Amino acid sequence: MKPRFDPATEIQNFLVFGEFGDVNPSICDSSTYTFLSVAKMEEVFEHELEGCFLYSRHWNPTNRYLAAALARMEDGEAAQVMASGMAAISTTLLQLCSAGDEIVSGRTIYGGSYALLGNLLPRFGITTRFVDLGDPAAVRAAMTDRTRVLYCESLSNPLLEVADIPALAGIAHACGARLVVDNTFSPLILSPLRLGADVVVHSMTKFINGTSDCVAGCVVSTHDFIASLNDINRGPSMLFGPVLDSIRAANILKNLHSLHVRMMRHSGNALHLAERFADRGLPVHYPGLAAHPQHALLARLMNPGYGCGGILALDVGSKELADRLMLRLQEEKVGYLAVSLGYFKTLFSAPGHSTSSEIPAEERARIGMGDGLIRFSVGLDNDIGRTWQTIRGILDEPQVI
Ligand SMILES: *Cc1c(COP(=O)(O)O)cnc(C)c1O
Repeated sequence: MKPRFDPATEIQNFLVFGEFGDVNPSICDSSTYTFLSVAKMEEVFEHELEGCFLYSRHWNPTNRYLAAALARMEDGEAAQVMASGMAAISTTLLQLCSAGDEIVSGRTIYGGSYALLGNLLPRFGITTRFVDLGDPAAVRAAMTDRTRVLYCESLSNPLLEVADIPALAGIAHACGARLVVDNTFSPLILSPLRLGADVVVHSMTKFINGTSDCVAGCVVSTHDFIASLNDINRGPSMLFGPVLDSIRAANILKNLHSLHVRMMRHSGNALHLAERFADRGLPVHYPGLAAHPQHALLARLMNPGYGCGGILALDVGSKELADRLMLRLQEEKVGYLAVSLGYFKTLFSAPGHSTSSEIPAEERARIGMGDGLIRFSVGLDNDIGRTWQTIRGILDEPQVI
């Protein structure tokens, strides 16, 4: 057993003393950096030197602070911040795979990731087999000697299946592959690197930033892996160039310090609504419910204290009913009809027609993602009981459900 690890305490203990003793270090507003000697400049070009910066596509001091805090949160050696979650995912996969290599991926993943793996990477000779991660024999059977990456989401989008990260790490490592985990849905709740994953990626656009005002991502792994992403001559992050703006990085670092408070409230509110939906006999997917198929697995893997996350999926049976319900919820100010998640207000959308529309209709039907499925990212509502009263009133209206 590893000693107890608490990611929020790690973030809390991450102290930065700014240039002037400023508690929020001054934002480094520069693309390039001066040197006092040519020799030093040449040295920095050849090797990374602690405290020396060359050009902001490579590293920027503000981005470094945020990356260091994220490495602490995920208990990784190093991290890199990027301009989007998709940049974090695509650069990671392009670093790990070359033409002729294969990826094995969970079949219920974020629509953009599904399209990257299924449509774009094959153009570069990298092919993916999508499997049911809940079936270890199927995962093992899909792995070949060309498989470089086993890819999954810690809590899958939008059905909230829990990945058995230790078991998947065992399968990946036995085949000489790396386990890459997208932990966007469960920051603080799950610590994939501690459970055996090799690389963790996040869309910081969601819970980590939490204010739906920017798009950003990160990768957390070993020093060597982060250095390879950022290698001046062959690193995909250096050469494709999805650099995060330093002003955004500074804002995200401030928001990161309230993530634990927000996650507790998102989770508590989501559990409250999931229980009420279940009490009405509505099919609801939420890993905090004892009826969820991986409830016990999540309880075994998770860091205590942050609940089971802020996302739930409700199946109302048909697209017509889902559309009508979402419109009424917006009219009654329960939240917004919008994609994305992790915002302080509740957001809802029908994944089949938005964020998962990249997944073909037959495949969606096979994995249980019906046309009547609504994904809720439950907000930080102060009085979730009152929110439920509003929702219940809408559900009781004739012709809503
Ligand atoms: C949103 C999301 C992404 C993509 O992140 P962007 O910041 O939009 O590029 C990847 N994975 C998951 C699980 C997401 O929810």
